[in-house]
Amino acid sequence: MLNYITYQQTAFAQNCRVVFDAQTKNCIVCDPGSSGDVPYLYKQIENLGLNPQAIILTHGHHDHCGGAQELARLLNVSIIGPNIADRVWLDHFKEQSIMFGLPEAPVPEISRFLNDNEELNLNLGEPVHTLLCPGHTPGHICYYMPKSKLLLSGDVLFAGSIGRSDFPQGDPDALIKAIKEKIVVLPDDTKVLSGHGSETTIGREKISNHFLIPDIY
Ligand SMILES: [Zn+2]
Repeated sequence: MLNYITYQQTAFAQNCRVVFDAQTKNCIVCDPGSSGDVPYLYKQIENLGLNPQAIILTHGHHDHCGGAQELARLLNVSIIGPNIADRVWLDHFKEQSIMFGLPEAPVPEISRFLNDNEELNLNLGEPVHTLLCPGHTPGHICYYMPKSKLLLSGDVLFAGSIGRSDFPQGDPDALIKAIKEKIVVLPDDTKVLSGHGSETTIGREKISNHFLIPDIY
């Protein structure tokens, strides 16, 4: 079974997750968002004796991947994801740092862009499934680990809320469609590890998230 540690990064309190197999200590790092936090994160991974396998990105926003390139170099691993439709965000990395008020950082060099419904073998003892969920960004990928019942939901679904869709290339209808067709169909006891805020479950969001409950008035 997989375990995880959360590191909040950037002024946006972005949740970087280190997901690891407690037995083999193989790990992946999802969304290392802050280049300023890379030395600390690297030290933590080293102190825990983890064996990094890859860095995975949910989407191309700076607060989710600002530390990816520097950390990939230190850990000697590849950066995987998101979908290629988010390349437009990565191509404007410098402009993003100004837009979000975050320190400039090297552009992540993606070794593999991902598509919907891929099954990744990241040496975690179980596969990682990709769910392409456009709307917040056009190439946003959520990562689902069915055996451990974990979902890395990035900025698609939050506890009590959903991601913003008012950025360039945002699409509110696509976002709701993706959440309804690909996310809420997952088992109720799936733990949702969001890009911001506290963790939740699919079951809890289905009955309490106002964006997902049909209008009754
Ligand atoms: Zn975002």
